[in-house]
Amino acid sequence: MRPSFHLQLVNPPFGDPGLLVDFLFEKRALLFDLGDLRALPPRKLLRVSHVFVSHTHMDHFMGFDWLLRLSLGRPSAIELFGPPSILAQVEAKLSGYTWNLVQNYAGNFTIQVNELHPDGRLERARFACRERFRRQPLPSVRCDDGLLVAEPGFRVRATLLDHEVPVLAFALEEPRHVNLWKSRLAEMGLPVGRWLQPLKQAVLAGATDDTPVRAFWKTKGGSGERTLLLGDLRPAIRVVPGSRIAYVTDVVHHAENVRRIIELARGADVLFIESVFLDEDAEHAARKFHLTARQAGSIARAAAARQVVAFHFSPRYSGREAELRQELAQSFGGSADAASGADPPLQASGEIPMGIV
Ligand SMILES: [Zn+2]
Repeated sequence: MRPSFHLQLVNPPFGDPGLLVDFLFEKRALLFDLGDLRALPPRKLLRVSHVFVSHTHMDHFMGFDWLLRLSLGRPSAIELFGPPSILAQVEAKLSGYTWNLVQNYAGNFTIQVNELHPDGRLERARFACRERFRRQPLPSVRCDDGLLVAEPGFRVRATLLDHEVPVLAFALEEPRHVNLWKSRLAEMGLPVGRWLQPLKQAVLAGATDDTPVRAFWKTKGGSGERTLLLGDLRPAIRVVPGSRIAYVTDVVHHAENVRRIIELARGADVLFIESVFLDEDAEHAARKFHLTARQAGSIARAAAARQVVAFHFSPRYSGREAELRQELAQSFGGSADAASGADPPLQASGEIPMGIV
């Protein structure tokens, strides 16, 4: 996997669930769930452009206020996605404060809320600071195949699951991207620089080997420029499939949920999945509409995930974290190491992931 983002669980596994996806070479991030966010530095939270809320139990939604507090007065915007009822719940949160002084704020912080329904409808509204966060309805749109966001750099898909209430699980997909070997470019006497970005775009667009490429650079040693053919640069170019990340939490174990999770997470490079209870407490887990670690591991295996990361441990297992991880790892069938990392790998050194130049 050579992702162009860094993955970070917001809290340790006994804390509130949440995942920050920080893009490595852009000042932007995605956030999955809005529980207690205070463990994240404000500078990271202020990069968040999209928020994906699984559901609005308090441990997944109380951080909304903190994110709002940090963002207020800034000229930024956030898109927020959630299950049915999220629009009314965001509106209710916003109407819980007094906004008599915000209409003249320099920055018009805006939240666009998108509510996914089982029939694929995305109901939408905007809440803007200078409008005192009153709801401004937007036309609803179709969201076929659960595709919530499709940008050149990433896509996010959702599926609706059952936690007695509707819950969204999400998959983040990165498009194919072009890696470049810095060392091989150096052998050709070519420093890295801004010229690599159009090269990458040309490669992804299927440009042929006789396509001219203009290399230009400014280094401490001076500036330079050369025109080459794309074919000359092939030894330094590798096109790799994008990575896929899935985030699944707060779901009861039954056939339809399992089917939908597997469909969403199939082949994921990393599957973040709740492992709330030990399997010895499976009946209790079912009553609480949560997964056990064994169930989570077997779903991850059925989805052929390459790596699985457990989170959202019940406080009743304080001091027994290793048992939860071991149960998940055994059921997943991978090594305990592969199943336990809270901080999955970044790009390999020597290659330049998409977006560095
Ligand atoms: Zn819940």
